[in-house]
Amino acid sequence: MPTAPSIVWFRLDLRLTDHAAMHAAMAQGGPVIPVFIWSPQEESPWAPGGASKWWLHHSLAKLEQALRRLGSRLILRQGPALAALQSLAQETGAAAVFWSRRYEPAVIKRDQHIKETLRNAGLQVESTKAALLHEPWEIKNQSGKSFQVFTPYWKNCLAQGEIAAPLPSPKALAIPAKWPTSLPLEALELLPKIIWDGGMASVWNVGAAAAHQRTESFAAEAWTHYGEERNRPDHAGTSRLSPHLHFGEISPRELWWKLRARAEQAGIVGWEKSQFVSEIGWREFSHHLLYHFPHTPDAPLRAEWNAFPCAENSDGLRAWSRGLTGYPIVDAGMRELWTTGWMHNRVRMIVASFLVKDLFLPWQEGAKWFWDTLVDADLAANTLGWQWTAGCGADAAPYFRVFNPISQGAKFDPQGDYVRKWIPELKSVPNEFVHAPWTRPSGKVTGYPGPIVDHAQARERALAAYAALRAELKAR
Ligand code: FAD
Repeated sequence: MPTAPSIVWFRLDLRLTDHAAMHAAMAQGGPVIPVFIWSPQEESPWAPGGASKWWLHHSLAKLEQALRRLGSRLILRQGPALAALQSLAQETGAAAVFWSRRYEPAVIKRDQHIKETLRNAGLQVESTKAALLHEPWEIKNQSGKSFQVFTPYWKNCLAQGEIAAPLPSPKALAIPAKWPTSLPLEALELLPKIIWDGGMASVWNVGAAAAHQRTESFAAEAWTHYGEERNRPDHAGTSRLSPHLHFGEISPRELWWKLRARAEQAGIVGWEKSQFVSEIGWREFSHHLLYHFPHTPDAPLRAEWNAFPCAENSDGLRAWSRGLTGYPIVDAGMRELWTTGWMHNRVRMIVASFLVKDLFLPWQEGAKWFWDTLVDADLAANTLGWQWTAGCGADAAPYFRVFNPISQGAKFDPQGDYVRKWIPELKSVPNEFVHAPWTRPSGKVTGYPGPIVDHAQARERALAAYAALRAELKAR
């Protein structure tokens, strides 16, 4: 009797290389049925936002092409995921289902239920590691608990020993006698109805091949200058791998081994301790935190911060999201985000600090806007980034560290190239005024707003609220 087919359920692992679930399915010896199930309601309240859906559409198209080159296909279905897998198993006679793990709380809950139900129905079901170097439960402190501080966490990770080599892409995939039906990609309605994706299309190459090209060119040279270049939004000094990593078009293990090979070639000793590799560590750490503290996408990790006051400021939120605050480095970042679906890390910190401390808005409002507009929107990294800036998370910046949008602009974009690129209104403003254009002797710039808040006053208000919270906690 021929071996029954195995289903590979693709999720945030849209690649064929280093794909343990695919290898597990192939090892069964029967046909392999690759499937993607669109089921956003099951990820609620963090269903993929607009920019993520745009990326997903193109990434699925690329994955389908790659599978076709192996003689296979990608079956597309709508959720609920359990019902979709059940009917696919029934239609094809599949006896096993394999997938790569995810770490978002709603997804973990859903996946556990699916695993249990399918196993009870007699199917073999296995989930595998694909998105991380270390599973969140593999790394523990001396008392056997999870970490909340990055440096000891990452030190512990680095002491775990060699990272296993990535798995190769299959050369061919056994196919079923008859393919089950598939929806056309367009039926998932992932692309925006109103055309706002032109900017994203012009800056990104989506898919695993592009992820590998980007890694190749970054590893060839740029990562050795990363320490000096990473804070400069006016330079292309970072890898821009974040959406590729989020969608699993390349695995962190592949990235690790690429860097390792380059370091060996170039005789670089201690490359694992480089600044760039530690950013991969922050990515791991964010997943560690999300897994161990699943309430954090919506509430502070440190509960005492629930008492921190915030303002109602819908005008401020609107101005911030549209890049009309009057502070050029903030506005440039927000316009870059809207146009390209990405923003430089230094600028993410500046705009986040501005929302929380200058506009006195809840960090959750900013996290939601990022969620909808980032092509790399990632529940673990976004939560960590916002709570870090708001001072209420693990290993967070102290609250009293309020980013000054003028001096940050002058320090990290000294010629004003970055702000002029995104704010054409500032084209003819000289460098010395470009980060505070209202201070020009000739006054305000036509077509560009003056500052919506006075930074010095806003800083005082934020610090006073912080002092009040500390006093209240002390008195409790
Ligand atoms: P590089 O500097 O080249 O870093 C390499 C990789 O390391 C990145 O691709 C990313 O996967 C990882 N990484 C780097 N910094 C961090 C970090 N601080 N936390 C976690 N992983 C990191 N990153 C996301 O991927 N998705 C998000 O939704 C996200 N939201 C953020 C929100 C705020 C408020 C802040 C301050 C940061 C956020 N970050 C997020 C982290 C960081 O800004 C981006 O990962 C980085 O800018 C992506 O650009 P890059 O690929 O060129 O990064």
